[in-house]
Amino acid sequence: MREVWNFSAGPAQIPYEVLQKAQEEFLSYDNSGMSIVEISHRSSAFIKVMEETERKLRSLLHISDDYGVLFLQGGASLQFAMIPMNLKKIGKAAYINTGNWSVKAAEEAERVGMQVDVIASSDDKNFNYIPAWPTDFSGYDYVHITSNNTLEGTTFYEFPQTGDVPLVADMSSNILSEPLDVSQFGLIYAGAQKNLGIAGLTVVIIKKDLLKHQNQLPKMLDFNQHYEKESAYNTPPTFAIYILGLVLDWVAEQGGLERIAERNRTKAQLLYDYLDQSEMFQPTVFGKDRSIMNIPFITGDDALDKEFIQYCEQHKIATIKGHRLIGGMRASIYNAMPIEGVQALIDVMQAFEDLKG
Ligand code: PMP
Repeated sequence: MREVWNFSAGPAQIPYEVLQKAQEEFLSYDNSGMSIVEISHRSSAFIKVMEETERKLRSLLHISDDYGVLFLQGGASLQFAMIPMNLKKIGKAAYINTGNWSVKAAEEAERVGMQVDVIASSDDKNFNYIPAWPTDFSGYDYVHITSNNTLEGTTFYEFPQTGDVPLVADMSSNILSEPLDVSQFGLIYAGAQKNLGIAGLTVVIIKKDLLKHQNQLPKMLDFNQHYEKESAYNTPPTFAIYILGLVLDWVAEQGGLERIAERNRTKAQLLYDYLDQSEMFQPTVFGKDRSIMNIPFITGDDALDKEFIQYCEQHKIATIKGHRLIGGMRASIYNAMPIEGVQALIDVMQAFEDLKG
């Protein structure tokens, strides 16, 4: 049993069963007498782990053979640069600005020479909604969105229909939270340290027709190199890939993405219902764009926020402090947070309200 409920935005709580399984196997992987972190990435045992992990991801997300799956390093942040470098043809890309991570993605694209057009933005209201976007995407190499905004707590529930122009999505904070039609996207990327496991691994799902032979890029920054070398051009993040495999098994055991999505919606609804009636706590996002992964809230009084965060720490609720740019509180309730964890948070909020009321 867990001793605390951890609401961290990432690295985040991962399924307890995964931690237990990793612990059990840590000293001797598959009775080899060697730890998974000691074996070569070129060994047949590890190649099998990679192949199986890719197969499980393809199966859960119904990823067709038109797409490659890459296991990379450098975090989602490296993708902010790698994507424009690899997808550049005309040299112009469209970005929908829905928060801090979209801003960073766009800035990085500019640094590598991409002309960035911000075609829609919600910065007029502290990014507390998803803006409407124009429908003509001609003249762009790709259209970039951040599908879930980890800091601000908003999500795209519909995606731009970009036709022949590839749609690129940073899904770091909501991949695997619900079923997804991958075929709408040219490229999906996600840092693993939320719904996919631990830090050190970035998953890229890329339509094969976007892979190009190109000489000008350093090999480590070239998607095609990684694809042709089956994510083992250099030493991949072996332990993080192994953990991803365990997480994917866990998701399948939970009943797959439909069942996971149902539970995620129930969890978020429980917390939003509490926030919507609370006299002390207010959510910062209203309406249809509310995230079911990251839920920011405030009391409206910085000193009281601070007191509440301390109260949480004394009551087995960890990492509830909001991001330093946003303030207040934030509950990140990824796949691995069970309903009991959300209920425990609500009980602590209610107790604090009673204490102060
Ligand atoms: N994009 C989003 C949506 C994020 O939440 C984060 C933070 N984990 C990042 C990008 C940056 O990820 P990383 O730290 O893996 O570079």
